[in-house]
Amino acid sequence: MTAHRTSTGTDPTGGRPVVPSLGRQRPLGLNEVQLTSGFWATLQATNAAATFEHCEHWMERLGWLANFDRVAAGTTGPDRPGWSFSDSEVYKLIEALSWEFGRSGNPAADEAVRRLTARIAPAQDPDGYLNTCYGHAHQQPRYSDLEMGHELYCTGHLLQAAVARLRTTGEDELVRVARRAADHVCETFGDDGLRAVCGHPEIEIGLAELGRALCEERYLEQARLFVDRRGHGTLRDIPLGRAYFQDDVPVRKADTWRGHAVRALYLAAAAVDVAVEYDDASLLDAVRRQWAHAVARQTYLTGGMGSRHQDEAFGADWELPPDRAYCETCAGVASVMVSWRLYLATGDIRYADLIERTFLNVIATSPRSDGRAFFYANPLHQRVAGNWPGEDRVSLRAESGARAAWFDVSCCPTNVARTLATWHSYAATAGEGELTLLQYAGMRISADLGCGRTLGLEVATSYPDDGLVVVRVRQAPAEAVALRLRVPSWAHGAMLEEGERRHDVAPGTAVVDRELVPGEEIRLHLPVTPRFTRPDRRVDAVRGCVAVERGPLVFCAESVDLPPGTRLDDVTVDTSHAPMDGDGGVLVRGLVGPETDAEPSWPYAAAADGAPGCAEAAEIVLVPYHRWAERGPSEMRVWLPATARDRTTR
Ligand SMILES: [Zn+2]
Repeated sequence: MTAHRTSTGTDPTGGRPVVPSLGRQRPLGLNEVQLTSGFWATLQATNAAATFEHCEHWMERLGWLANFDRVAAGTTGPDRPGWSFSDSEVYKLIEALSWEFGRSGNPAADEAVRRLTARIAPAQDPDGYLNTCYGHAHQQPRYSDLEMGHELYCTGHLLQAAVARLRTTGEDELVRVARRAADHVCETFGDDGLRAVCGHPEIEIGLAELGRALCEERYLEQARLFVDRRGHGTLRDIPLGRAYFQDDVPVRKADTWRGHAVRALYLAAAAVDVAVEYDDASLLDAVRRQWAHAVARQTYLTGGMGSRHQDEAFGADWELPPDRAYCETCAGVASVMVSWRLYLATGDIRYADLIERTFLNVIATSPRSDGRAFFYANPLHQRVAGNWPGEDRVSLRAESGARAAWFDVSCCPTNVARTLATWHSYAATAGEGELTLLQYAGMRISADLGCGRTLGLEVATSYPDDGLVVVRVRQAPAEAVALRLRVPSWAHGAMLEEGERRHDVAPGTAVVDRELVPGEEIRLHLPVTPRFTRPDRRVDAVRGCVAVERGPLVFCAESVDLPPGTRLDDVTVDTSHAPMDGDGGVLVRGLVGPETDAEPSWPYAAAADGAPGCAEAAEIVLVPYHRWAERGPSEMRVWLPATARDRTTR
């Protein structure tokens, strides 16, 4: 691994969630990239205007915040509300608010951080332990349920919140609380302490990043210890098996991700952090191998990960049923975390491709357009229209088929909030004499390319609706620099325009390597015409089906768009007609109607029987998947059966 060493761990203008001390690419800081318009700027604005306040409201209402007050007052009892991990939601909200204050300077975000910190700090025990569910009157002892208790998981989120504060504001009370908590973890679980791990990885990421931010080697070392310890059967076996919390195989020996998807991916992210900091090539290779395997065989078209509802887990290879897809929003966030770290370490553009797919088709799908309701699970087929639980109800189920205002287990809303608040930081990276545009949005960039060279750009685009990306040079050094633009894997036929010169560019990276002139424009044309996509034949749950994609967006059919009296189950797509842009979405030609008029008493028949049906030719409207169920609960399908002659998959 070469050569980019960063030194701005606590720089308040840094504003970056991940700052590896070594890597091929350097993430840009808050002072270097700002969104100005478009899809993601809108989501960031809604996040700021609605989601933070919404989350705090629910945490107050359900007593999750008052849990801290009760610990401080010594009034804990057996009636503590919330799951054992509810503290972590408060920390994720503080993290989100901290990034937001750094991004926008909105004093309300800063005030909220201070308000929440003032509730949390008094609940910390003198030795640094901080958890409202264990270790106090009428509670189980500390660390008595490492398998499912989530104590270190909560601490990990506290540390990530402190990192956000350090990198946007500087050291404050929250950071001091986090330092004490991290010291307590090192003293309790260090080489001479409990040889144990937490059932839910997360502490590892928090320790690694706080260690980076504070230049505290001890925290990095503890993160390395936790990563190395896992996989040796340290945790008690449970009915779901030790693979559930990745304690079945050591990270560096595993071939793919297993068990609970969010756990597996948080652990993988931490393993990359440790691999980079300790220059551990075999550990980094192990995660790259796992990524490649899981992306090739265990990932949905949307980028969603986790097929199984029972244990919120990865399925076997090719086990990707669309209706039983779990694809937890948090697993999407965690997948981005892994891919981002791998990209920074290696510079391999494929990681940015998956990040885009996941951002647009998993993470952007979760929040309702007003930022006050969320999907937890993200299936690719909703057989029965969901039940809207109402604005005032907590959803007890993750799989309701409708966005919910809040959940009994409410990990996803705060994960969306903290990710949206930092979206700009995934848009571009810098290297020695080079800048790479990874994600396309209206934005302003002024990046340090080393040795005092600054490259200033203005990016204008309506992407992903439109494929034209205009990069206007505002400031450039008087020497050659490399401007690299990601060409997504689907973008066959892309074209780059530099003044009078036009040339084709292939998926991967288009490079402009020369002296840039302030005022000039470079235009990237990405072909975002709608296209059919087929599954590998081994994804048997959708064999014989097609999906429609347009640029980076996955589309879906919703029952609300069908002709009256027809059902989504009765749609067949005719792939001899290419999908087309149309009013309200993408149009496909097909047949709507049952294969037979007869109502069966048994839904199977001899293979040779082909009773005539009453299907009618129709044009079917498809809408971006990320906006499904915005018009009320509906049935929905991403994968649609194709006409018989097209039912051969590659
Ligand atoms: Zn979640």
